Amino acid sequence: MGYSRVGIVTGANKGIGLAIVRQLALQYPKSSLNSGPFLIYLTARDKGRGEAALKALHEDAQLQKAKALKEHGGLSEIKYHQLDITDRKSVDAFAAHLKQAHRDGIDVVINNAGIALNGFDANVVKTTLGCNYYNTMEACHTFLSLFKPEGRLINVASTGGKLNKYSDEVRNRFLASKSEADVTSIMKDFASSVEAGKEKEAGFPSAAYAVSKAGLIGATRALAVAEREKGSSVLINSCCPGYVNTDMTKGNGTLTPDDGAQTPVFLALGDIQGETGEFWKDKKRCEW
Ligand code: NDP
Repeated sequence: MGYSRVGIVTGANKGIGLAIVRQLALQYPKSSLNSGPFLIYLTARDKGRGEAALKALHEDAQLQKAKALKEHGGLSEIKYHQLDITDRKSVDAFAAHLKQAHRDGIDVVINNAGIALNGFDANVVKTTLGCNYYNTMEACHTFLSLFKPEGRLINVASTGGKLNKYSDEVRNRFLASKSEADVTSIMKDFASSVEAGKEKEAGFPSAAYAVSKAGLIGATRALAVAEREKGSSVLINSCCPGYVNTDMTKGNGTLTPDDGAQTPVFLALGDIQGETGEFWKDKKRCEW
C-alpha cells in the first residue's frame, strides 16, 4: 500500500513513546498536514517488547472503534521496526529500510527514546550523554537525509534541561551556541569536569540527565538554524512532555502518558505557524 505520510517514533514500546504512536493514529485527521493513509513506525530496541506494544495497540478499544468507523485511527497503519539509537548498525538498517520502502521520503520523526540512570559518576555521564545527546543528534542527521522537503522533527527533551542550574558563564555559553559543535564542546567540558570531580567548580550541576537534555535543547535549536540556512523547510523543535507517570519517573509522575504525548504530537501535526528551533511545553513555546 502506498502511504501519503510516514511517521517514526523512537523508544515507542512503552511510556510516552507508545502514547505518541497511539495519539498520532487517533489525531491524524485533525492535522494540518495532507490527508491520505498514514504509516506510523513504532520502533523499539527490543523486538519482543516492540511487538508486544504493537499487539496492545491493535487491541486498543479506541483505535479499534476508529478503524471500524474508517476514521481517525482507521486511516492509519502502525508497524513495528527494530531501532536501537545507540547501535549504529541498527540505525543504518532502519534508514536503509526507510529509503527503500518510502522513496518519496518521510514526514514526521519524534525522537522520544531516552534514559535516566541512577547515581552520578563519569560512567553515568558517558552513557547518558551518549544516548540522550550524541545518539539522538546522530539519529536526527540520519533521518533528516530521508525527509520530504517539508516535515517535522521533534526531540523529546525535558524542563530538566532548562538553564537555571548553571553558572552565568556556562549558561551564557549555551545561549551563545551558534552550532551543534558549540553545544557539543559544552557537553565535552561537562564530561571532563566530572572525570576530574570538578563539575561544580566548572559551573555545572551534578546531574547527567539534566545536562544531556540541556544539550539536546541547544543542539536542536542549532540544527534548526543550520537546516533553515541550507534552505530546508523541515520544522525542528524540542519539547518537554510534562511530569509523566512512566517507568522513568517510577510511578511519581502526575500526568498520564496520553497527556505527555500531547505536545510532541502537536509539534508533529498541529499548526505551529512555521516555528522551528524552539523549546515547547504544554503546546506553547517555553523559555530554555
Ligand atoms: P520510559 O523509561 O518509560 O521509556 C523510555 C523509552 O525509551 C523505552 O521505550 C526505552 O526502551 C526507550 N529507549 C531507551 N534507550 C533506547 C535506545 N538506545 N534505543 C531505542 N529506544 C531506547 O520513559 P518515558 O516514556 O517517561 O520517557 C520518554 C521520553 O520523555 C524520554 O526522552 C524522557 O527523557 C522524556 N521525558 C520524560 C518525562 C517524564 O516525566 N516521564 C519528563 C521529561 C522528559 P526499553 O523499554 O527497551 O528500555
